[in-house]
Amino acid sequence: MEYQRTLAEKVILEGEGIFSGKNIKVEIEPSEENTGIVFIREDLPEKPIIPLNIDNVIGLDGATAVTDGEHFIYLVEHLLSAFHGLQIDNAIVHVYGEEIPLFDGSAYPWVRKIQEVGYKFLLVPRKKLYLRKSFQYQNGNGRISFKPSNTLKVKASIYFEHPLIGYQSFEIEINPRSYINEVSFARTFGFKEILFERKNKGILKGGSLSNAIILDKEKVLNPEGLRADNEFVRHKVLDIVGDFFTFGCPLVAEIEAVYSTHRLHIDALKSLYRAKLLEEVESRALTFLLVYKKRKKFD
Ligand SMILES: [Zn+2]
Repeated sequence: MEYQRTLAEKVILEGEGIFSGKNIKVEIEPSEENTGIVFIREDLPEKPIIPLNIDNVIGLDGATAVTDGEHFIYLVEHLLSAFHGLQIDNAIVHVYGEEIPLFDGSAYPWVRKIQEVGYKFLLVPRKKLYLRKSFQYQNGNGRISFKPSNTLKVKASIYFEHPLIGYQSFEIEINPRSYINEVSFARTFGFKEILFERKNKGILKGGSLSNAIILDKEKVLNPEGLRADNEFVRHKVLDIVGDFFTFGCPLVAEIEAVYSTHRLHIDALKSLYRAKLLEEVESRALTFLLVYKKRKKFD
């Protein structure tokens, strides 16, 4: 049986918020079984609580946010990606601002901190969502297809007209080891002109070369270069692993995302949810189901 997990100890990280330009502290507290992931806006006097579930999530251009309808926490996707990739089922996330700091633009700072404190197993089975049948969602050029599977598999394809990106595709079965080694380090990326434009308009009050891969028309401007040739599409997988945790528990499916965005991810998940094609299964029940299926094969 797979048991639910939380962190063994509290994790604290602090960094600049790229939207607000403010220094924001995030404390992740271990929690009991079946809590799920719960966000709290600790900087507001009423300390609003936002539990992670698909009704409380919105996909924006370039970020995913959680909201109770009135208060928001932006840029939750890389932290959620670390939770999903490392199989953290339960945690309380105290956020002292309106966004999660971006750090280096990857999920690795979270992964490293969570690995440092380690995990605690809770003696109840993990809950996961399985697909009853295949489903597809499309909007413009973007498309996401979901197929039933016994593990989480993600394939992403991106296209950017840039000599260093072009068409890239990357496919991986997600488990903690593959996630840490192949996905967690991949940074988000942006183009210099867009960054300057957003800074001039005041949309971004923070943000620098230390928060993302920044490209001009030909090259990477970060002195350290890329962490992998296809770091761009690996980051798309990182975002998918994060966004696809917004049901509040893992989604087990084979996912193919073509030219997808945060907005498309969340719209696709909401549409999948409305289509009633998901089944929540506890890991114990699943084991029985698989044994039963295998036996049937041999009968
Ligand atoms: Zn991202």
